[in-house]
Amino acid sequence: MSLKGEIDRRRTFGIVSHPDAGKTTLTEKLLLFGGAIRVAGAVKSNKIKKGATSDFMEIERQRGISVATSVMGFEYKDIKINILDTPGHQDFAEDTYRTLTAVDSVIVVIDAAKGVEAQTRRLMRVCRMRKTPVIVFINKLDREGKDPFELLDEIENELDIKVRPLSWPVGMGKRLRGIYNMYDGKLNIFTGEDKQVAEEPIQISADSDEIIDYIGEDYTQQLRDDIELVNGVYPPFENQTYLNAEVSPVFFGSALYNFGVKELLECFIDIAPTPRPSEAEERHVDAYENKFTGFVFKIHANMDPKHRDRLAFIKICSGVFQRNTNYLHVRNGKKIKFSSPTAFMASKKSVIDEAYPGDIIGLHDTGNFKIGDTLTENEQLHFKGLPSFSPEMFKYIENDDPMKSKQLAKGVDQLMDEGVAQLFTVKMNGRKIIGTVGALQFEVIEYRLLHEYGAKCRWEPVGFHKAVWFDSKNTEQIEDFKKRKYKQVAEDKHGNDVYLAESAFDLDRAKEKFPDINFHLTNEF
Ligand code: GDP
Repeated sequence: MSLKGEIDRRRTFGIVSHPDAGKTTLTEKLLLFGGAIRVAGAVKSNKIKKGATSDFMEIERQRGISVATSVMGFEYKDIKINILDTPGHQDFAEDTYRTLTAVDSVIVVIDAAKGVEAQTRRLMRVCRMRKTPVIVFINKLDREGKDPFELLDEIENELDIKVRPLSWPVGMGKRLRGIYNMYDGKLNIFTGEDKQVAEEPIQISADSDEIIDYIGEDYTQQLRDDIELVNGVYPPFENQTYLNAEVSPVFFGSALYNFGVKELLECFIDIAPTPRPSEAEERHVDAYENKFTGFVFKIHANMDPKHRDRLAFIKICSGVFQRNTNYLHVRNGKKIKFSSPTAFMASKKSVIDEAYPGDIIGLHDTGNFKIGDTLTENEQLHFKGLPSFSPEMFKYIENDDPMKSKQLAKGVDQLMDEGVAQLFTVKMNGRKIIGTVGALQFEVIEYRLLHEYGAKCRWEPVGFHKAVWFDSKNTEQIEDFKKRKYKQVAEDKHGNDVYLAESAFDLDRAKEKFPDINFHLTNEF
């Protein structure tokens, strides 16, 4: 197949949700359609169970699973689909955000009873920032949930997006009768039986008289009224507005019962974007260019401390990646070739010879890669769009074993390169602060420092709210600001100035008092 053919048949996306909305269940059902797995239950939930935070074996076990489920590729109707996992819950980490920089689109799963939840909000903020096309899947229709119109309003208001339903529920919970698919104008009857295998649905039009035989007159009337209202309230669906990230199509269903999932998948392969162009500092890189380019968006350390090698996850941006071919590692100027690049098909890993834009490959790494590194055939390119996000939890990190201070410094340095968390050094006294977006990260760091580097650390609380990068053309104001806030000014790992705000109020005050200073909650590196 031509390069264009290979690119055109690829869809790389992430499923995001608040924990328990049904991301794992939906992923599994999608994999079943692709024949990538045979039975439900094959995909292990990637989340760390509640109460397991101090159980380090559990952390290790989960890290193993999280490699296996990081990327799940499968084929459906000749379309190569790559699902990138976005860990949630207590293992929510910067990785979760960064993964969103490697996807071309997103499916967001929302629990019909709970509506929009905190983590969905955080992740959707990143999608909006990056203008990522989003499809919404409202899940758990087999249970009592909120009114569909109310849910759509909530999604529009809370996630700051526009929606357009492409399917519509007939009843809900115990009264769930079916789903009307507005995308192809057919009704799918809910039998509530088969939880494992998706059967070919019985399909009939909402306008036909026949539909009454299936769902009765009341439901038919309600459905026809609802559809009329939907068509009155929401503009007709246009693929381009979805691709521009202006409007998000919405599907309803029940992942558990594998109901409404096929409609979602069929529409997804029709409308979801093929690999999108990537922005480098130097230029715009089109997926269809002949020369290979790619970047590292995730690094996974080996769980076995005796083998310090790591797996670097590369998103292919353009051209064809080939095994045993020399590529330029732009940051260090070296040419490297890879003898065993791996691809991820469902939960299997296998060595591949070639990979195309949209694909994710794993490269064995002995410490050459950092998050954000670019690989090319020979060009000096630096991909953009891998921001660091302000952490939300901060602790001082102290050395707890004076004999091992070098090991600690090295361990911290390498873990930060892996993107496990962010390091800030307070300018006033040189104290080091680790910032994370998830609580578990502190335990992971402590554990890994000990087991991989033989270093012992101790945490001390510090009450910061956000790390805020700042800059200004007004040097006088910058100097004044630094002087006044000297206790809260730090440097990030790359030497950028960071203001550690104590509260939202503190930050607002700073913005008011220093109008010429730009404050940023994200920083591209
Ligand atoms: P995740 O945390 O988003 O990955 O959520 P899971 O897929 O692990 O689902 C959380 C819980 O909700 C599990 O007990 C699922 O069996 C259940 N669940 C998922 N989808 C549905 C659904 O459509 N209906 C019902 N009733 N339960 C569901």
